[in-house]
Amino acid sequence: MPTDRPTEQLLAALESEDGGLRHLRRLPARRAVRADWPEWVPAEVRDVLGDNGITLPWPHQAEAATHAFEGRDTVIATGTASGKSLAYLLPLLTEAASGGEGRTLYLAPTKALAADQARAVGELAVPGLVPAIVDGDTPFEHRQWAQRFANLVLSNPDLLHHSLLPRHRMWRSLLKNLKYVVVDECHVYRGVFGAHVALTLRRLLRLAEHYGADPTVIAASATAADPAASLSVLTGRPAAAVTEDRSPHPGATVGLWEPVAYEVDGEPRQASTLSETARMLAQLVRRGVRTLAFVPSRRGAEIVAAEARSRLGADPAAGRIAAYRAGYLREHRRDLESDLREGRLLGVATTNALELGIDVTGLDAVLLCGYPGRLASFWQQIGRAGRGDTEALAVMLAKDDPLDTFLVHHPEAIFDRPVEASVCDPSNPYVLAGHLCLAAEELPLKESDLASIPGSREVAEQLCEQRLLRRRPGGRYYWVGAERPEVTLRGSGPMGVDIAETSTGRLIGTVDAAASHRLVHQGALYLHQGESYLVDDLDLEEGLALVHAAKPPWTTTTQEITHLEVLSMRERLEMGEAALSLGEVEVTSCVISYQRRRLPSGEVIDTQSLDLPPQTLRTVAVWWTVDPESLDGLKDLAGSLHAAEHASIGLLPLVATCDRWDIGGLSTAAHMDTELPTVFVYDGHPGGAGFAEQAFRRWREWLGATRDAITGCECGTGCPSCIQSPKCGNGNEPLSKRGAVVLLDKVLKAGEGPVKTVAFAAEPEAKEDDLWPGDF
Ligand SMILES: [Zn+2]
Ligand SMILES: [Zn+2]
Repeated sequence: MPTDRPTEQLLAALESEDGGLRHLRRLPARRAVRADWPEWVPAEVRDVLGDNGITLPWPHQAEAATHAFEGRDTVIATGTASGKSLAYLLPLLTEAASGGEGRTLYLAPTKALAADQARAVGELAVPGLVPAIVDGDTPFEHRQWAQRFANLVLSNPDLLHHSLLPRHRMWRSLLKNLKYVVVDECHVYRGVFGAHVALTLRRLLRLAEHYGADPTVIAASATAADPAASLSVLTGRPAAAVTEDRSPHPGATVGLWEPVAYEVDGEPRQASTLSETARMLAQLVRRGVRTLAFVPSRRGAEIVAAEARSRLGADPAAGRIAAYRAGYLREHRRDLESDLREGRLLGVATTNALELGIDVTGLDAVLLCGYPGRLASFWQQIGRAGRGDTEALAVMLAKDDPLDTFLVHHPEAIFDRPVEASVCDPSNPYVLAGHLCLAAEELPLKESDLASIPGSREVAEQLCEQRLLRRRPGGRYYWVGAERPEVTLRGSGPMGVDIAETSTGRLIGTVDAAASHRLVHQGALYLHQGESYLVDDLDLEEGLALVHAAKPPWTTTTQEITHLEVLSMRERLEMGEAALSLGEVEVTSCVISYQRRRLPSGEVIDTQSLDLPPQTLRTVAVWWTVDPESLDGLKDLAGSLHAAEHASIGLLPLVATCDRWDIGGLSTAAHMDTELPTVFVYDGHPGGAGFAEQAFRRWREWLGATRDAITGCECGTGCPSCIQSPKCGNGNEPLSKRGAVVLLDKVLKAGEGPVKTVAFAAEPEAKEDDLWPGDF
């Protein structure tokens, strides 16, 4: 239907071939509101900003800056392009322009973002400000110069952890005068990575205090639930939050799109989301619409750009489409960014490399190839569109998985739900132990250093037993180990497996040890950035997999057996015929064989056994049980539990800030610890990362959405959009779609009746007898 709204015309055009539009939401325009400069901002700073087109701040900028100026830890959590950087720049520019001694350490999650900030700050040319980038690429002399002269050091948590803190004596002058610590894009610090960064920040604040400084932390975050609490978890100190975005926006129309189904063996299957994204990108570019398409993988970004170009054929607009991703040379990326900013490029297919702060705004349209996993990312990506007064267009195209299927049919779960909180758990003993060693090596630990982290004294005592720390009379812990322990902030530890080409020794990539058995066992077909390799040998002792390039007409999948033991219970909800529990578990899994499967049919060619050692993981799990007596008539109990497990893993990112790949699961018709039909879902990281706990706290929402995702799927007996899992160790067998719904209904129904909450003490072995059943 023709209309005068440009975005609706566009949508109508996108729909013209085959309609997949499931929902349309209009986000209203926001008018700008200006605030006065806070009176503490000196004239020099106002003038410089004025020369750069910033005549007055928005209220959220002024408010956050004043909190920080007055010494309160503050987080500003507002949308993309809402000028968050001015909030942290004002206090430090003021300090520099007033000739103060105070220095600032700015931390970004990526080198690219720190470089982008350095460029922006350099262009401002505020008198007295001496910025310097210090990252892994900075030569020694430049670091020395920065140590002595820079009053704004731009860096990242990795450098802080690996270099600045261990050599803190060389950085004494910075630490002694440290007035502000800026933590940019702090919502990125979640899960295990977040726990590492939280402990690294605590180490920084402790050393600053040692040298006599008391810095204020200023954080910038994408919109998030309870950002003040998230910053507090990162720093261990109270924080204020500014969350009301008062910057202008032209408004946007957001569409949720489900690629159309076609039939395979009588079952509906979705068209490829990548192809559908490329089709839309081509259509928009043909109309001169500046469009950014977010694609979940590097290879996907290349495919979408190439396919969109080929769809345009001889149209000159084809030359104005490019891909953008990490791995390109820095200069090339800078060129692409400016080509996009200035309109020479019309369409860019990008990974989330363009999601973080880098200044690319002023686009007409954004396409999301699949739900990006988190609402915060969804809004961050959508927020890239919006130029001048023209309403923006954004379309999210669903992938072929349970979460995306659920979301396009339940738009309220996107639009009418608060964004997730950034969850991390710095008291995870597996993360904490390493940082306590490092901190003690940097400076002996005092009682007060341990006070803000629950469980840290116990971990310190264990480290004493291992003769890594020693407690001296007076209560301080000293580092007495031989070598400083190796702790990496990203990834699951130093035990990665390198993948190298057999003939040349060329390093192709790394996988973490936990995944290596599944991905690079002998005989595996390993995919890396679109290239495929056959694994000749996996040497676990050396941590090396040898491969050669190959393109066979088949793929490989592994089979594994998994055993799960409940170590202790934290909490249980008793609901009559069902119960839900949270506790510590030990998961032992062993990859026993692999199958070669013909492409594209998936037919099994043969099965080869493997001789790999079992791997164990101690972590946190959420699990639910049902009373088998209440299930009479349910035929395939194992398949029903298994299907419910897969779908619930797929939907967990709805309530916890995790990826499907951060989580594992196990289902069984009679578990030896619960003695009941049970579905376990556990954090895939040693010690847990807080995901299972979130699932437990929000179980109704989680399992309710799981049920709706299954019933909402149009397939007959199960497909990748509902109950099949790409990482199943059992070849997706057995699975019962109907039975999964029966089970989930049972649990949800039970939760409507009386629920008894049982909390367990920290040492269940010792206290279990006292607790049962008298204490509640
Ligand atoms: Zn399905
Ligand atoms: Zn499975």
